[in-house]
Order: sequence, then structure tokens, then C-alpha cells
Amino acid sequence: MLTGNTPEQPARLYTEPPITAFGNASRQFDQAAHVLGLTDNQIAIVKLPRLIVQANLPVKMDDGRIRIFQAFRVQHNKARGPAKGGIRFHPDVNLDEVSALAFWMTVKCAVAGIPMGGAKGGVVVDPAGLSVTELERLSRRYVAELIEFFGPDVDVPAPDVGTNAQMMGWMMDTYIMHTRRYTPAAITGKPLEIGGSAGREAAAARGLLFNVQRWAQRTGHHLRGMTVAVQGFGNVGSWSARLLAADGCRVVAISDISGAYYNPDGIDVEAAIGHARANRGILASYETKPGVKKLDDAMHVLELPVDILVPAALENQITVKNAGRIRARLIAEGADGPITYDADEILNQAGIPVIPDILCNSGGVTVSYLEWVQNRIGLFWSEERVNRDLEEIMDRAFDAVYETAQHRGISMRMAAFVVGIELVVRASEARGLYA
Ligand code: NAD
Repeated sequence: MLTGNTPEQPARLYTEPPITAFGNASRQFDQAAHVLGLTDNQIAIVKLPRLIVQANLPVKMDDGRIRIFQAFRVQHNKARGPAKGGIRFHPDVNLDEVSALAFWMTVKCAVAGIPMGGAKGGVVVDPAGLSVTELERLSRRYVAELIEFFGPDVDVPAPDVGTNAQMMGWMMDTYIMHTRRYTPAAITGKPLEIGGSAGREAAAARGLLFNVQRWAQRTGHHLRGMTVAVQGFGNVGSWSARLLAADGCRVVAISDISGAYYNPDGIDVEAAIGHARANRGILASYETKPGVKKLDDAMHVLELPVDILVPAALENQITVKNAGRIRARLIAEGADGPITYDADEILNQAGIPVIPDILCNSGGVTVSYLEWVQNRIGLFWSEERVNRDLEEIMDRAFDAVYETAQHRGISMRMAAFVVGIELVVRASEARGLYA
């Protein structure tokens, strides 16, 4: 893209405005608002987060020192139900990022048809640098300090990057010890023994699989033999690789914080998961396996000529800098916000379809919702039952987005925003503004 192409002002390369996650989210919102023709009042009521909580959590370290951890919880919108969203433990997490993630949760829940609003939490910490006992004290402190903002009818946290089922168990216990009521529905993504749902661990990736399958069905493609590259090999990345491989795809590249690993004949996903498990959760030294090559630059995992690219690490991975080099035939977003607003335009122009995060990875929050429902009615459903419900919800959501995209001639991402934001606006108007 060129701008300022006049004799006085020589052409210069377009540079993307500074990328912030909430900046991206706001531009997405504005475009969807334009497509929907929202009024200023409608925009005012759904654009900004409704509640922002910031805290400094004191936590005693194993050596007796007290360390302060900066923490956030943002509730974006609760017009359709209690807020729902994960808690991220990461050294770079900040209020801008958490606010964007909370907004995406609002839209994600609406697109999936889940009666919940959107929230997200974060703690500025590198969890790998803490002992298990320190992580437990930090997880408990987070809930103890912010307890008035949580509850099954208020705001229901879940795991995200850097947090896991065990931490959710500690958080649930802290909530129960403070409130003196057994309310497992206060937190989802818990261990099975204390009310976690069957199928929750794989849910985001299984939802991704259902979306990719539905896309293939509706566009006349066959997944068998399709090549796949996956960025990120945590919960979403490793499960996506596993489930796509089990469905007949050939996973040729995987990556994580340690680098990117490529085998054109296909990565043995189960062996890679075993390798990471035995190696503190990371793939480091996976290039020592037969046929596997480590890419010089881990970001090149995004640029391989594959059928399906699954970004499943963090946001802002595909930007104007590398969007023009993407050669995938389909991008299925496992991560939240992996493609910037401007990069999205480049991919649209190149005709590369993107199944957007707020649809593609919504299997995670969907099974979290099913866990919340099971906890509230005191029942446990089988994994088959949970997966069946998940598939039905994903197919319905995919069809609504796909048909809106076709009907309006817009990308699937914009269609998902249009579908989701319209539902939130309608719910807000049906409730009216309490004064
Ligand atoms: P995770 O912590 O389990 O895994 C993150 C992975 O990304 C790790 O393998 C890490 O090594 C890798 N990574 C980090 N920085 C990287 C980089 N620069 N390059 C390559 N790899 C890198 O987290 P997760 O739960 O799998 O979440 C991943 C993404 O999916 C996040 O955007 C999250 O918001 C989104 N998501 C997760 C769920 C869920 O249920 N877990 C649901 C919906 C969306």
C-alpha cells in the first residue's frame, strides 16, 4: 500500500498504526457498527468495557519475601448474562490486552448463543518462574482480593494462557471458603473431581475442528490429506494438531516458545505431545527426532505453503509485515486476536478465508458454559453428550456466520462481529437503561 504519492511528498510504505489489542478490537467494532448501521446510543452502550478492576496482589514467596503482582479483571458487557472469560498469567499481560480479550468474549458468547457476557482477567507474572506453592498462593490471592466481582451469577472465570485446571481448583476452593457455600459454578475449567466437565480440556480445539469440518462441508473441500501448520503448542495448539491429525490431516509444522519444527512427511503429533510433556511443556530439541527440521525463524511457521494454518499462541502474530507472505488456503484462528486489523485486509484481498477467533475457538467457552450448567443442576454429563452439544452449537454458530458473510458480501470475521454485536445491542435495548 502506498500513501502520499505526490511530487512534494514521495511515496512511502504504509505502516500499520501502533498495534494494540484493544486498538484492533475497536476498529473491528467500528466496522461492524458501520455495517449494522448502529446509532450513537447503541454504540455507546456496547463498545466500552463496563467494569475495569486493577489490583496489586501481595503474595508471600517460598523464601519469605512478599512480592506484589499487578492483576486485572475487565467485565466488558453483561447484557446477555453473567460475564465469562479466562484468567491469563503472562509477563506481558496489560489492561489494553485484557480489555480487548473481554470485548471478544462478549461477542464470542453471543455468536455461540451462550447466555453470558464477556470478561477477562490477567496477572503480570511468568508462571514458569514460580514454584507450585507460590502459584497456589497467587491464584488464591487473585480470587480473595477480587471476590465481590465473581460468582456464578456475576462473573465466572476460566483458564487461559498460563493457567490450568489445577489453578481453577484452588480458585474455586478460595471462593467457597470465603462465601461458605458450595458453588462450583463460580469457576469453570476445574479438575473433573470437583465438577469440571468432561471434554473441557480439548474443547477449544474440538470446536476449531468442528468449524473447519463445517467450512469444508459448506465449501466442498475434503480434510483428508490436507496439510496443517500450528503455531503454539499449549492447550489449543496441541489439541488442534491432535484432532486434525486424527481426522486425516497431515500436520507438517508445529511451534512454541522454543522454536518451529517442520517435517513435510508429517509430524507424529502424539510423540510431540509426549516430548513436550517430558520437557516442562515445551518442544525444545524436538529437531533431534528423525525427519524433523528446526526452522531458522520460528515466525516462518506462519508462512508455509499449507492447506490449513492454525495460529494458536498469542495475539498480533500476523501483521502487515508478514500477511503478504501467508500461503495457507485457510486460516483457523485458535488464538484470540492473532491477526491484526490491517493484516486482515491483506488476507481478504488475497482471498484467504479466515475462520475468526470469536467463532473458531468458541468451543472453549461453550464447554465452560456446559460445565456451569451441569454444576448448577447438579448433574455430570458424559463426554459424548458434551461433545454432541458442542458440535450442535458450533455448527449453528458457523452457519449463522457463514450465511451472514455470504448474504452481506463480507468476511467471516466481520460477519461474526455483526451477528454477535447485533445480539448484544438487542439484549441491551430489551432490558432498557436502568436509571
Ligand atoms: P497455553 O499457555 O496452553 O499455550 C500457549 C502456547 O503458545 C505455548 O505452547 C507457548 O509456548 C506458545 N507461545 C507463546 N509465545 C509464542 C510465540 N511467540 N511463538 C510461538 N509460540 C508461542 O495457552 P492456550 O490455552 O493454548 O491459549 C492459546 C491461545 O488460545 C490464546 O490466545 C488464548 O486466549 C486462546 N484460547 C484459549 C482457550 C482455551 O480454552 N485454552 C479458548 C479460547 C481461546
